[in-house]
Amino acid sequence: MAHELHLDLAVLGGGPGGYAAAFRAADLGLSVCLIEQGGRLGGTCLNVGCIPSKTLLHASAVIEEAQAAAEFGVCFGSPQIDLDALRSHKARIVSQLTNGLDGLCKARKITRLIGRGTFVEPQMLLVDGKDGETRVHCANAVIASGSHPFVLPGCPDDPRIWDSTDALALTRVPERLLIVGGGVIGLEMAQIYGALGAAITIVELQSQIIPPADRDLVQPLFLKLKKRFRICTETRVAAVAAQPAGIEVVLEGKTAITETFDAVLVAVGRRPNTQGLGLETIGLSLDERGFIPVNQRQQTAIPHLYAVGDVVGEPMLAHKATHQGKVAAEVIAGRDAIFAPRSIPAVAYTSPEIAWVGLTEKEAEQQGVAYNKGKFPWGASGRALSVGAGNGVSKALFDVATGRILGAGICGLNAGELIHEAALALELGATAADISKTVHAHPTLAETFAFAAEMVEGSITDVLPPKKTGRAK
Ligand SMILES: Cc1cc2nc3c(=O)[nH]c(=O)nc-3n(C[C@H](O)[C@H](O)[C@H](O)COP(=O)(O)OP(=O)(O)OC[C@H]3O[C@@H](n4cnc5c(N)ncnc54)[C@H](O)[C@@H]3O)c2cc1C
Repeated sequence: MAHELHLDLAVLGGGPGGYAAAFRAADLGLSVCLIEQGGRLGGTCLNVGCIPSKTLLHASAVIEEAQAAAEFGVCFGSPQIDLDALRSHKARIVSQLTNGLDGLCKARKITRLIGRGTFVEPQMLLVDGKDGETRVHCANAVIASGSHPFVLPGCPDDPRIWDSTDALALTRVPERLLIVGGGVIGLEMAQIYGALGAAITIVELQSQIIPPADRDLVQPLFLKLKKRFRICTETRVAAVAAQPAGIEVVLEGKTAITETFDAVLVAVGRRPNTQGLGLETIGLSLDERGFIPVNQRQQTAIPHLYAVGDVVGEPMLAHKATHQGKVAAEVIAGRDAIFAPRSIPAVAYTSPEIAWVGLTEKEAEQQGVAYNKGKFPWGASGRALSVGAGNGVSKALFDVATGRILGAGICGLNAGELIHEAALALELGATAADISKTVHAHPTLAETFAFAAEMVEGSITDVLPPKKTGRAK
């Protein structure tokens, strides 16, 4: 016989969207259960996404920095890489965080259900766990079921063809690795496996790597990577065949070759997890791309049913999921909350990092938005030069009509940390004067964002002021 549970809220999925919703709702006094099919909380982000990738990227950054130190007279020997130790290190960090979530869940008296949840009715789920079935009756439910990697059509089922989860498992370092997709995930993996010794080829359909970012921000990364990796833009994978000697891949387009690789990583995007949740049973429709449509309160078309995170659409990012999870919890608890950020920062944790927030220059142009642009080259920053980051760039766009910041982008060391000053400026509607008159400590990389604003103001002294910065349209 099934166990019965009666609660204010059931959350389906224990990733950043789901656990944030559950934790916030419990803190607001609701009785909550959190349903997760995997053994551990944390979802994609903690288990097979953000955290393991950043842990391995740190290792690759250390290798790269040690090599670069030779330029200023500090020489280390070749790195000795113990793959088992590196894998254990990554696993320890993931466990520390997921165990922390278990503790936080317990402390909040949230009911944990380990098993796959399916909607039977909008306010009733069946959870099929290892201890049998549980029927969860809930006044409200949040769907936070996340996403899964897109599988390239026509790819054979072969252990040498990887998705990002396989790549992060770090079972071996292939001699020749093809990465299909020059987006953020593909490039982060290229950075990791390149540092570990793989010969990397990257195939990207578009004319630049990290296609959503402005080309001038991506250029310093592209110039650096192309010295070490083969990067084939405007190229598509036409055929993939598993052969005894490796995976044979036919590339078509700007680069037309047939070559054999020891492993192929497919990193061409992710699809929402909407299958097998019982959504058809309860009559919840998806949009044309397969996402669950929601309003700013994260409400679906069915009363008392909410959805958050990757399953509701782009950008598929952990910080978007957590913010949406909190909004859903607050709305359910009767608070007046909406998810309406001016922007959501995006970061490629490559070397150099690339980060952007708000309107990109190409979006401003497509939308016919009149903007003033300030761009500061890191080659004129003392701090950037002293840490070997002189190829970076900071830029900011300001609305011609209001003077307020529209967007910003940074390429360089720690861009992913530096971008948040721009994010705050955007949320607060800051102008170039607000930013340039905010005293920034010297010498810092953060100064470069203020210098970009000074370029627009014309008050820059670290380089010659631009003759004409405005681009009135
Ligand atoms: C390699 C990689 C690197 C990434 N790096 C970053 C990064 O640096 N920064 C960033 O912001 N984002 C990053 N992301 C994206 C980020 O991981 C996701 O955006 C984020 O995890 C989405 O959170 P979520 O809660 O919507 O879904 P998920 O984290 O996917 O969690 C969904 C959970 O729901 C569970 N589930 C699904 N269906 C059911 C069911 N029927 N019953 C029970 N449980 C179910 C799943 O098991 C899963 O644990 C990365 C992703 C990958 C793959």
